[in-house]
Amino acid sequence: MVNVLTVDVEEYYHGVEFTTALDAAALARLPSRVVAQTERLLDVLDAHHAHATFFTLGEIAQRFPRLIRAITARGHELASHGWDHTPVHRLGADGFRADVRRARHALEHAAGRAIHGYRAPNYSITAHTPWAFAILAEEGHTYDSSVHPIGHDRYGFPSAPRFVYETPGRELWEVPVGTARALGTNVPLGGGFFRLFPAGLLRDAIASVNRLDRQPLVLYVHPWEFDAGQPRPPMPWLHRFRHYVGLAGAERKLKALLAAFRFTTVDDALAAVRTAPVAVVARAS
Ligand SMILES: [Zn+2]
Repeated sequence: MVNVLTVDVEEYYHGVEFTTALDAAALARLPSRVVAQTERLLDVLDAHHAHATFFTLGEIAQRFPRLIRAITARGHELASHGWDHTPVHRLGADGFRADVRRARHALEHAAGRAIHGYRAPNYSITAHTPWAFAILAEEGHTYDSSVHPIGHDRYGFPSAPRFVYETPGRELWEVPVGTARALGTNVPLGGGFFRLFPAGLLRDAIASVNRLDRQPLVLYVHPWEFDAGQPRPPMPWLHRFRHYVGLAGAERKLKALLAAFRFTTVDDALAAVRTAPVAVVARAS
C-alpha cells in the first residue's frame, strides 16, 4: 500500500491564528520563511525517496518562481492552494472563480506546465459551498482535496465520505483529507494533529487505514510545521497552542513515517483509482 503525502505551501502567517491576531500592516512586516522551509522539506523527501503533492499559493508562485521549479524538478506534483489563503466561504462563488483562475495561471506560469489539483485554504469547501466543485471543474481542475470529513470548530465536512469519490455532479474527483476511525468517530491525522500525536500513534493509525479500510492515507503537512525558529507574536493561548505545539519534534516524526511507509502524489494515487474496478470507487449521494 502506497500512502499519499500532501504539503500545503504557504507562509507560517497565512494560518488563521496569525490573521486573527495581527492586522494587515503587522502581517506585512513579518519576514518570509517559506523558501528555506520548503527547501528543507524537499531535502527530507529526497533522502527518503518520497514524492508528494505540493498545494501551493498563487502569490507564492508569483513571488518565488524558482521554488516552484525546484518542486517540480525534484519529481513532485504541483497543485493549487488558491491565491492568498482567503477561505472559500468568504470569497463567494464569483470571488472563488477569480481566485482559482488567478492562482492556476501563476502556478502554471512559474512551473511551465499544467496543474490539475486544488485544495482550499483551511479546508473551506464544506456543505455550505456546494457550488465550489463545478467552478473548480470549469476552471480546469480534475480533482479537489479540500474535504475534511471531521467535526471541527473551524472547518470540516463530517458527513462526507472518507475516501476518493466522484463529486455529486460528477464534475471532478474528490480526494478527502485522511482520517482514521477511533471511538466511533473520524480522527484527523494531519497538520496540528500530526504535531500533537506521538509517532507511534500516527504509525498505528496509518497502518489501520491501510489494513482495515484497505485505502491509502492522505496525510498533510505545512513547511512551517518543521520550523521552530519562526516569529512568535502575542496571540490567544488556544491559537498559540494550535500553531506552535510540536514544531521541534515534527521533522523527526515525519522521517519516522517516511521510513515506515511509502508515500506518493495525489496524481499517482488517482491514476490507480481510475483504473480500478468501479465497485471500489465510492460515490457521494
Ligand atoms: Zn493552507
